[in-house]
Amino acid sequence: MNAVSLLFHDVYAADPRESGFASDAADRYKLSVADFNAQLLGLARVRRDAPLLASQPGGLKASGCHATKNPFLITVDDGGVSYYTMLADRLEALGWLGHCLISTDAIGSRGFLDAAQIRELDARGHVIGSHSASHPSRFSACSVDHMQQEWTRSRQVLEDLLGHEVIVASVPGGYYSRTVAHAAREAGLRMLFTSEPITSIHDEQGCAVIGRFPIRRGDAPDTAQRLVLPAPWTRWSAWTTWNAKGLIKPLLGPAYTRVADFVLGHG
Ligand SMILES: [Zn+2]
Repeated sequence: MNAVSLLFHDVYAADPRESGFASDAADRYKLSVADFNAQLLGLARVRRDAPLLASQPGGLKASGCHATKNPFLITVDDGGVSYYTMLADRLEALGWLGHCLISTDAIGSRGFLDAAQIRELDARGHVIGSHSASHPSRFSACSVDHMQQEWTRSRQVLEDLLGHEVIVASVPGGYYSRTVAHAAREAGLRMLFTSEPITSIHDEQGCAVIGRFPIRRGDAPDTAQRLVLPAPWTRWSAWTTWNAKGLIKPLLGPAYTRVADFVLGHG
């Protein structure tokens, strides 16, 4: 099946450092509450159907059983406290739910969700998943053992906290490789969100690998809205931009974000 999965990060009232990881790189993905409201309003304008959830019967691998031919999903990375304080209420006001993907080593620390908040979000119907344990800076460069430890530790923490199985995860920083998916599957995860802006979902040895379209600081207010429309133009543009970055990303490492800003005129 195909689905448009949207990737959000933290939402803040006054200061990006209120929620999630505190770094210039992390801040580039955070939206002010006004910007988030605008994206959500745009989505609600064009979509009457609720976003799909990985926990729904049949999950994301099923086909032909969904009300819409063009399903969309909402995912939020990192586990910043704003999922609880900002995002959940706004989604639920539309009758919607999302995926909250948590770097579990950060649970309870400043700016991040605590155990009680995660349990409550789970009880309210949001899908809780892993975003690794420690959020390694270049996940795909980690050893297989390290990858498996990250997925296993993170999944275990969430399962202990929630008292039920956790099978959904997202790759930190978008550093995906097939080995990353194999390690996730080995750790018991069945659905893995990447940051590659594609709609097709493919199976990687029993793990469904699902691309996503990020919404970032500075994006036009109707970006999310245009991404979920049947017309492919906005998604195509996201994909070509991502591929242009892909050419230089492995060469530059940590300098990548600064150079990408320069080359692509972002930020
Ligand atoms: Zn992240």
